[in-house]
Amino acid sequence: MKDKQVENLIKAEEKRQKKVINLIPSENYVSKDVLIALGSIFDNKYAEGYPHARYYGGQTNTDKLEELCKARALKLFKLSPKEWAVNVQPLSGAPANLAVYLGLVLPGEKIMGMTLTAGGHLSHGQKVSITGKVWQQVPYGVDPKTETLNYDELKKLAMEEKPALIVAGYTAYPRVVDFKKFREIADACGAYLMVDMSHFAGLVAGGAYPTPFKYADVVTSTTHKTLRGPRGALIFSKKDDRKLDKKIDKAIFPGLQGGPHMGQIAGIAVALKEDTAPAFKTYAKQIVKNARALAGELEKLGWRIISGGTDSHLILMDTWMEGKGLPGKDAEALLEKNGIICNKNTIPGETRSPFDPSGIRMGTPAETTRGRKEKDFLAIARKIDKILRAGKK
Ligand SMILES: *Cc1c(COP(=O)(O)O)cnc(C)c1O
Repeated sequence: MKDKQVENLIKAEEKRQKKVINLIPSENYVSKDVLIALGSIFDNKYAEGYPHARYYGGQTNTDKLEELCKARALKLFKLSPKEWAVNVQPLSGAPANLAVYLGLVLPGEKIMGMTLTAGGHLSHGQKVSITGKVWQQVPYGVDPKTETLNYDELKKLAMEEKPALIVAGYTAYPRVVDFKKFREIADACGAYLMVDMSHFAGLVAGGAYPTPFKYADVVTSTTHKTLRGPRGALIFSKKDDRKLDKKIDKAIFPGLQGGPHMGQIAGIAVALKEDTAPAFKTYAKQIVKNARALAGELEKLGWRIISGGTDSHLILMDTWMEGKGLPGKDAEALLEKNGIICNKNTIPGETRSPFDPSGIRMGTPAETTRGRKEKDFLAIARKIDKILRAGKK
């Protein structure tokens, strides 16, 4: 590179990424091929619109690329193009969710979503997000005792509030979600069911987590988490006379975005093909095995794991333990000093502040990409225990 300043920063970041143990559950390491496609000359092209209906000329290759990406997305999740449509243009996860609401829910109507503190995402109707300013969030959390979803309570709330759309699928929820129960609740109150599988999409693709497609009207996902692609997002919608796909396409463009990032779409296409290979199934299953090993060992060492374990790629750990341990912020900082990267996180029934909460969140997708297995995660658990124990006040 001619630009030495940026080149040096890239090199420094490469070194940092190689050196640390990365337990951030929403991060991953993409292949060289994904980076090549992402950084390709497709980035030079304006392609406002959709294949064969663009606002600029010169679309021979972009049309083919976007169609290929869409076909691969449907194939990965075993969806028939007769029954499901997919939009591959969302620039990232939050705008994808915004586009779904924009397409399907009138301003001022209610969106039922999980609170941030219980594990929901900002874009599920949180007040500080545009999704909580244009629409009204009907917030829900988890059962204080089990720290898992209570479907009877959810149904009661939905029947009282009659939201137009219900969001299932979270940022910091370690357990399996019962999508069938959510479907029943959505049908009972007349709401759309949207599943945001951003975090666990790769597990669904690899057969290591239940699929939401049997029950949801719309499924959104980021592409850069467990799917191991470049940053971006997908919106799947059920094809029927409600014309959800047409409404969502319109919401993405011209509703919300201008030209799609075609280099990004090239990278997503490459990742989606990689995810279809048999090796990805092994990878997805290993992610869950590793998370279970990490949770089990930390629990054995005396730490409290939220909900008592995990069914997925992530765990939430109570580091504060009612004052017997240390705050999440200190835990995060101490671990980083020792080369382990995670993030502080609120826990269900949080008694501290979101800026200095009671716990940390850890996940296994990135280190599983690097080939780490259960025994490595047992060792990581012991290292975490040692660091945190030494740091206790
Ligand atoms: C990560 C995430 C998003 C947002 O994705 P961005 O690409 O960061 O905008 C949305 N929903 C959930 C559940 C997520 O985990």
